[in-house]
Parts: sequence; C-alpha cells; structure tokens
Amino acid sequence: MYAEIIASGTELLMGETQDTNSSYLGSRLPALGLEVRQITLVGDHLERYAEVLERSWRRNPFTFTTGGLGPTVDDVTREAIAQVMGEQVQVDEEQRQVLLRLFRSRGQQDMPARNIKQAWLIPSARAIPNGVGTAPGWWAEKEGRVIVALPGPPRELSLMWDGHVVPQIKERVKGSVVLTRTIKTIGLGEALVDEMATEVLGVANPYVGTYAKPDGIYLRVIARGGTEAEARRLLDPVDHKLRAIFGKNVWGVDDESVEETVGAMLRGRGLTLATMESCTGGMLASTITDVPGSSGYFRGGVISYTNELKIASGVPAHLIEAHGAVSEQVASAMAQAARARLGADLGVGVTGVAGPEALEGKPPGTVYIGIADARGAKATAYRFPANNRTLVKRRAVTSALIALRASLLEG
Ligand code: ATP
Ligand code: MG
Repeated sequence: MYAEIIASGTELLMGETQDTNSSYLGSRLPALGLEVRQITLVGDHLERYAEVLERSWRRNPFTFTTGGLGPTVDDVTREAIAQVMGEQVQVDEEQRQVLLRLFRSRGQQDMPARNIKQAWLIPSARAIPNGVGTAPGWWAEKEGRVIVALPGPPRELSLMWDGHVVPQIKERVKGSVVLTRTIKTIGLGEALVDEMATEVLGVANPYVGTYAKPDGIYLRVIARGGTEAEARRLLDPVDHKLRAIFGKNVWGVDDESVEETVGAMLRGRGLTLATMESCTGGMLASTITDVPGSSGYFRGGVISYTNELKIASGVPAHLIEAHGAVSEQVASAMAQAARARLGADLGVGVTGVAGPEALEGKPPGTVYIGIADARGAKATAYRFPANNRTLVKRRAVTSALIALRASLLEG
C-alpha cells in the first residue's frame, strides 16, 4: 500500500530547518506495510500546499503531512485539507473546550483569538490528541483515502505518532508486513558490489538496493508478505545469500555501527585497545566510547596534536624529521607508542591534514592510519575529499575503525 509524506514550512525550503520529520516517518512506514512513494517539501502557501496535497490524496491510500497546524495565518494545513476534500472548516465545540482547558492549565484565562483555528475540523476529519502542544492533529478520511496531519515540532510529532497514529494504521493496514535488512560491506566498490549481487538484484520482492555510504556499500533488502512469517520466508534466503557472497566484506547489519562491531570483536577476544590521534583531535576515542561497555576494552588515548607531544608520547623525533608528522612511518610509530605506553594489545595511530590548508606539502584530506599489535605495526594512506574539516575527521575515524576490524580478522 502506498503512502506519501508532505512536510510544510517555508523554513524547510530555505534550509533553515532540516526536515527530520520526513525521515522519522519514512523510516517507520515500511514496517507498517506502507511503501513511501514520494516525499515533498512545500512552503507555507495555501495554493501550492493544496496542489501537492490533492495530487497525493488522489493517488495514495495514505498521505502524511507535518507542520502547519499552529495558530498563525501561515499555518495552512487545515485549510489545504478542507480545500482538497471540498469541505468547510468549522469550530468543533469539543476541541474548543480542550483548547480552553489547556490555556487555563497554563494560567491563561483567555485564549488568544487566533488559536481558535486549532479547534477547527471538517466533517471528514477527527482530531488526534496532542500530548504536549496545543494543536491537535487531524485524521481526515474521504472516499477511502486518508490524510493524517501531524504537528511540526518533532517531539509533538513522535508522541502523537506512537500514541495515536500507529495503532490506527495497524487497524487499517492488515495483511501487509514489510521487513528490511541492511547488510553493510566494506572494501569493495559500488559497481563490484552490484555485479557480485546480480542474482538477487532486479527482483521486485524481496527488493535489493545498493547505497554508497562513508563506511562502505550497503545492501538493503526489503521483503513484503501477508504476514510477518511470510515476509521472513522471503527475506531470510536473500539475507543468507548476500552474507555468503560478501563474506568477510560484511562488517555489520541494520543499525550496527563499526565501533560496535569492533567493540564486540575486542570483547570477544579479550583484547584491549589504545589510541594516539592527531588530526582527529579525540574523535576516534570519543567514537569508541560511544559504545556501552567500551571501558571493558578501551584503555584510553592520547591527543598528540603537536610534534612535541608526539615525541613526548613516544614517537621517535627522527621519524618526524625524516618523513614529516603526516606520514606512514609516524602513523605506525603512533600506533606502536599508544600500544606500548598505554599498555594495550592493540594501538591505533591517526595523523593527517584536516584542511583547508595543506601541511608539509601534503594536500588536505591526506590521512595515515597505523595499526599496531603483537606482530608489529603497519600503516595505510587515505585521501578523503577535503572540502570540510569535520567530514575529513569523521572519515578518518570510520576508516581507522574499519582498519582495526580488518586487522582483527587477520589476527
Ligand atoms: P506550531 O504550533 O509550533 O506552529 P506547527 O504544527 O504549525 O507547530 P510548524 O509551524 O510548521 O509546525 O513548525 C514548528 C517548528 O517545528 C519549526 O519551527 C521547526 O522547528 C519544527 N519543524 C517543523 N517542520 C519540521 C520538519 N519537517 N522537520 C523537523 N522539524 C520541523
Ligand atoms: Mg506553525
């Protein structure tokens, strides 16, 4: 069953607010048996809003809108739905009482006149209670097709969604369950992944898509069935097949992060880890410690941002002189020093140029990652797109964790 999402707000079009509501809804609809066909952003403009709303309502059993339920003139969602369904808005006495009680409970005797539009309904709509804000949502249904109007503030939206909307959708959309599985691979290009997965691509159900992400190529399997068991019967064989095809290149599934995967490997083997980082400024240690229980394997790290501190932390000065601080040799030495000085089984060293300026004649985005274990140390060179310091740092952190995983797999 198809659904569309329409997010309204001129601030979304201007890029001032990120449309997180659509991603929130988009990630939750498939599991309810609704396939999102389109997401549209529209400004606070009645005519244009009504135009996209009408188009969606005509062709989909479900349309979800977010925003535009406030009391001001530019909050036009209610007007747009009324126009599309060809009905007149009118003050609903019950909703008016709800609003009056809310204002009184906030210590305001009088409700501002413009808030009355939040008590509006049309004959085809009923109000969805709002647990935190003033504006009720709308469940508007005509000719067998539904428009669900949700508030813009993300917290109001999520409370209304979980508390009132999901149960009603489950009631309505029976016999269609969607299960998804994301398989995360590393070390292979997108074209190669596509080629290797040929036998499962191009099928409608389960559908397999590939996506390039900073931490590798993801394969997303979407299976649909009348029941959960039926969807699972379709999903599982493809899931197993993909894991067999990609083997060691698979580093995680679904919401797993590479720091969790590495953490689980370290814990499983009873190994400890220490870091020495320069260009990532502590982000690697911070990411490692995002995982609950990381104190069980992470000894700690040094942020040796200057050459003096690198040397004081155990990197031989002559290596920096001969090769520069941003070099394979220094990355290896940092990994070794982290391992030795901090008393860990494994050490990681990260040195690079976050940008925007070049350093030691090395262009921004150049990063070396060293991994040291009982067998010795080795470093790998990376060259990331250099348009953004934070992104270079983040890529370096992800790559360091992936390199660590590879080294654990070899060891
Ligand atoms: P209000 O009663 O607060 O006016 P509303 O339902 O009319 O609520 P909007 O006026 O469209 O909603 O948006 C209110 C605030 O909610 C915005 O300023 C923004 O911070 C947030 N918001 C709105 N739409 C979105 C969205 N699509 N994604 C994330 N946040 C949003
Ligand atoms: Mg508003």
